[in-house]
Amino acid sequence: MKTFNDPKKLQRWAAAQRLAGKKIALVPTMGALHEGHLSLIAAAKKKGADEIVVSVFVNPTQFGPKEDYAQYPRDHKADAAKCRAAGATAIFFPTPENMYAPDHSVWMVEDGALSGSLCGARRPGHFRGVCTVVAKLFNLTHPNFAVFGQKDYQQATIIRRMVRDMNFDLEIVVAPIVREPSGLARSSRNAYLSDAERESALALSRALQKLKKLTAEGPRPWKALQRETWIALDRAGLRTDYVEAVNADTLAPVRKLDKGVVVLLAAYAGKTRLIDNAVM
Ligand code: AMP
Repeated sequence: MKTFNDPKKLQRWAAAQRLAGKKIALVPTMGALHEGHLSLIAAAKKKGADEIVVSVFVNPTQFGPKEDYAQYPRDHKADAAKCRAAGATAIFFPTPENMYAPDHSVWMVEDGALSGSLCGARRPGHFRGVCTVVAKLFNLTHPNFAVFGQKDYQQATIIRRMVRDMNFDLEIVVAPIVREPSGLARSSRNAYLSDAERESALALSRALQKLKKLTAEGPRPWKALQRETWIALDRAGLRTDYVEAVNADTLAPVRKLDKGVVVLLAAYAGKTRLIDNAVM
């Protein structure tokens, strides 16, 4: 497995691989890798990638001033070992300094159609940071495809739109959410949770399971269910941030919970903000 720190060196290497006819997959991450991330590498392998590039970068521009940028878990050594074992062929550890010039001034911005709600509404500038860094990573790795997780549903939807609207010549693959046996969606931020918070956090996947079951019996008005779900999360000890049901492609809110609708949840367990979602 190759290791890159310098964006220019990665870009040269990736260009040479493409020129040689290799199929390149990009797996963008912020590190502190867990089975969710490793499933993206597995998906890239399954799709027949010759080179699987994992980027590990805690991207400062996608964090708000009061968010957890400074304490976000970082463990390059463990991440490299996990990537190697999972079959990645290259890992990219840039620094904020070599990704952003001191006078960096051009950004990739979604106009709000997709990023104006859900996490985008609560984390101003977040998707500007995400889209910008992902666009940079596309330019650095020349991927045939890039793999994202359904765990960040809004992110995957926005990146797909960015690829379409900006004519990036690559395919976006979205892999299913990997969960702990308890149902809790795997996340690097789970490391912040106390035992009691971890217990409370189970309410997220439980609520989604319950809604899925109800929807399987037929369509239902969303409003009452939204309120019920909100209360169930709060009762479990979480501080609910949002409970939304949206169209899977446009992220527009729906009035009826029905098959194909996506329910997205965000809630705080203590100081840790957790998100989860499910397609009904
Ligand atoms: P992160 O390191 O949290 O920025 O995530 C990097 C990528 O891994 C994103 O595409 C996430 O959606 C994906 N990811 C994170 N957690 C999971 C999970 N539990 N299952 C599947 N993919 C995940």
